[in-house]
Amino acid sequence: MSAPAETEIAIVGAGIVALSCALELVQSGRTVTLVAPEDDESGASYGNAGVIADYAVMPVGTPDVLRNLPRLLFDRDSPLAIRPAAVASLTPWLLRFMRESLPRRAEANAQAIAALLAPTPSAWAAMAAQIGARSLLKPLGSLYLFETEAERRAADFRAYRRHGVAVEEIGRDELGQLQPGLPTGIGAGAAFFPNTVTVNDPKEVLRLLRSNVRAAGVEHLQAKVDRIERVRTGVQLTGHGLTLRARKVVLAAGAWSRPLAAMAGDQVPLDTERGYHLEYDGIAPFIRQMTPVSRGFYFCPMAGRLRVAGTVELGGLHAPPSPHRWAALERGARAILPDLPEPSRRWMGFRPSLPDSRPVIGPSQGGGDVIHAFGHGHLGLTLAPVTARIVTALVSGNTPETDITPYLPSRF
Ligand SMILES: Cc1cc2nc3c(=O)[nH]c(=O)nc-3n(C[C@H](O)[C@H](O)[C@H](O)COP(=O)(O)OP(=O)(O)OC[C@H]3O[C@@H](n4cnc5c(N)ncnc54)[C@H](O)[C@@H]3O)c2cc1C
Repeated sequence: MSAPAETEIAIVGAGIVALSCALELVQSGRTVTLVAPEDDESGASYGNAGVIADYAVMPVGTPDVLRNLPRLLFDRDSPLAIRPAAVASLTPWLLRFMRESLPRRAEANAQAIAALLAPTPSAWAAMAAQIGARSLLKPLGSLYLFETEAERRAADFRAYRRHGVAVEEIGRDELGQLQPGLPTGIGAGAAFFPNTVTVNDPKEVLRLLRSNVRAAGVEHLQAKVDRIERVRTGVQLTGHGLTLRARKVVLAAGAWSRPLAAMAGDQVPLDTERGYHLEYDGIAPFIRQMTPVSRGFYFCPMAGRLRVAGTVELGGLHAPPSPHRWAALERGARAILPDLPEPSRRWMGFRPSLPDSRPVIGPSQGGGDVIHAFGHGHLGLTLAPVTARIVTALVSGNTPETDITPYLPSRF
């Protein structure tokens, strides 16, 4: 039998988190190998809304969401729905989610998210400069659109400010100046996050990251990891046609990380919030990214097209996409833009989500030779460069700039 291939650091995954870690690690002088199936468009990193969401301090679970949960979950058109067939298997995750939505927990989760968001703008700017992606970043801010007076009155601007987020209250009249394409009569006002930067093509960011890490010497083994085990000389990854030994392994396989984390010694309640998008080629109705708050999706101006992305469906990793969810997204988009044509394409992907909306970042409880970097939920694009800095510090035995206690797998 031939000897297994060897590397210093193996990273499981090839989405935005894994690639950002590979870039930072290879720049710190490490020999890095990525292990993931062939590049495709199934990862959440391809189909997201492209927002570097510096304002998104609120966890998904809040007292407000908790109050409305039954109505939200069982209304098939709501922005947060559950597939009926998945109710039984998701009950443990939902119960934890409900507990995390209680006021004190939700506030602690918001603080944990805010601590990761604080260094995000500078970390993203540095990464974009390194990979030649600066022109893909649009510093135009982001709008939360209130469609009714009641929504405007209910908006809690203080909660954002308490966490240091810059936000401006925009009246009906100013809305038209900030978003000239908005049809007259739509919108009672908005929250404007002036410092938010959006990515106008997540796929292009991935391509640039891939080509940069490849040029820096990172090998990509195209294989699915079925097993992680500690052996005498390090950590061994195995899969179909794969036997790779590494000194350290970074687990960054997004929504698919749970069984691999368990093999490394950590039981984490990772599940998925399925998200959907529609794309409309050749149209640019809006100049800046905008979310009609009650609908749970974003209008995302992207290179050569409009993407309408978002909503949450709890439904696990295996069920096919629900055509009904695309139809609901389309109806919601047409409520704001009645003249939208037929979508050019449709997509569904898997956010890797923990019930407390915090990622899992840090050494495995089974030993520091496996480092976790998954579970970024709604914020993986945003938090990838900061995660990469933390992972690189941990690999080098240094103390990360951000206190990682709130993200450790031992919190469960
Ligand atoms: C509709 C939607 C909108 C979103 N909008 C935003 C947004 O605006 N801003 C934001 O910050 N975030 C957003 N997100 C969330 C963000 O996209 C995710 O958090 C992020 O992409 C997760 O990245 P990842 O690298 O962890 O996982 P993924 O991109 O899913 O990558 C997982 C990787 O692991 C690999 N893999 C899986 N199993 C194995 C295995 N067994 N062995 C080896 N490799 C494996 C896969 O092939 C893939 O390469 C959105 C998500 C959705 C769905």
